Amino acid sequence: MSRHTKIFIGLVVGAVAGVACNIFFKNAPALVLVQKYLSDPLGKIFLNLLIMMVIPLVFASLSLGVAQIGDLKKLGRIGLKTISYFMLVTALAVTLGLVLVNLIRPGDYLPEATKTELLSSFKGQASEIKEATEKIEFGIQTFVNIVPRNPFASIARPNPDMLALIFVSLIVGISLTLIKKERADPLIRLLEGINDVTVVVINLAMKLAPLGVTALLFSVTSRFGFDLLIALSMYIVTVLLGLTLHLLGVYPILLKVFARYSPLKFFRKTETVMLTAFSTSSSNATLPTTISVAKNNLGIPSQITGFVLPLGATMNMNGTALFEGVTVLFLAQVFGVPLSFGVQIIVVLMSVLTAIGSAGVPSGSIPLLVIVLAMVGVPVEGIAIILGADRLLDMCRTVLNVTGDITCAAYISRSEGFELTQ
Ligand code: ASP
Repeated sequence: MSRHTKIFIGLVVGAVAGVACNIFFKNAPALVLVQKYLSDPLGKIFLNLLIMMVIPLVFASLSLGVAQIGDLKKLGRIGLKTISYFMLVTALAVTLGLVLVNLIRPGDYLPEATKTELLSSFKGQASEIKEATEKIEFGIQTFVNIVPRNPFASIARPNPDMLALIFVSLIVGISLTLIKKERADPLIRLLEGINDVTVVVINLAMKLAPLGVTALLFSVTSRFGFDLLIALSMYIVTVLLGLTLHLLGVYPILLKVFARYSPLKFFRKTETVMLTAFSTSSSNATLPTTISVAKNNLGIPSQITGFVLPLGATMNMNGTALFEGVTVLFLAQVFGVPLSFGVQIIVVLMSVLTAIGSAGVPSGSIPLLVIVLAMVGVPVEGIAIILGADRLLDMCRTVLNVTGDITCAAYISRSEGFELTQ
């Protein structure tokens, strides 16, 4: 049985068992014990095993990718193409979301009573997020922080600063191309060794994927507030419709036009990546799988995967940006805050920027979403209204985030004259 079939079975088993327990045993002490001592720790261990290798993997693959590209002019060209692609496709995703939210107007469907109830039941969580947001320096300082004074301090914390890590990796990679070959070679071999070790660790972790995915899905679905999902259904439908149109409409066009690759074949070959993203809700945790699938199934050369995919896992979040745009406008509709066309353009820009700054971890974008709300004058405590539905939406938007990264890698690879595996 192939790996993705096993993961898919794990996903279905976890979801079915979770939904059944949710319906029949919600809040029963035995279920709480199973969640606390079995599914939560198993899911967490699986996630940790995947995320554990992300820092060395990003550093090694990005600096090696840059060193392998070698020529600075070529690097500049690939870099420019990659970043422009990220920005344009992310802006397209938010625009799509905004068109839908303006047409559907999900905010008009939320009854006043549900709004008050949601605001009070998620009040605690919302104010914790608000507090965390106050510590984020978003603005010019965000750009200053990309150049870290102490790279180790930037990564040695629970939420590592991935943009700073990316910057250091790029600089190291560039420097490797500028020193004598006999000096660079030992370091390159060391980085290759680190890369290989991360691949082995991830392969081991992925052996646990069917079990880990079952645990993750069980934990999430057994806790879902299904009543809440129904109350927010118009909002959820708007986000999911946007994500689906982007996944099944925009990506196939980009694949056909820019990567000259069959979308159907692409989706078949990247199934494992999508399943991993869906069940972990984390671009970072999916990154190792993304890299290996892009290399092994699509034949994208390692200099391209090593450069585009680590950048993409942090900077290219199409699904997240679409979700942010829809959520800001939905909450504006709920609170009756009119957002003019000009302000909506600001929402597009801010959603693109904050999606770049969001961490590729579950709910990584929520703190930055709060910043966008505040910026356009929507009450930030309104975030409480959508928190209960966030996990479901996070699973779905993360699928787009990583699929967007591979789509970009396929395009860059083709545009640099490499053939893809058919
Ligand atoms: N979970 C998303 C990711 O890892 C980030 C987010 O939208 O919260 O890509």
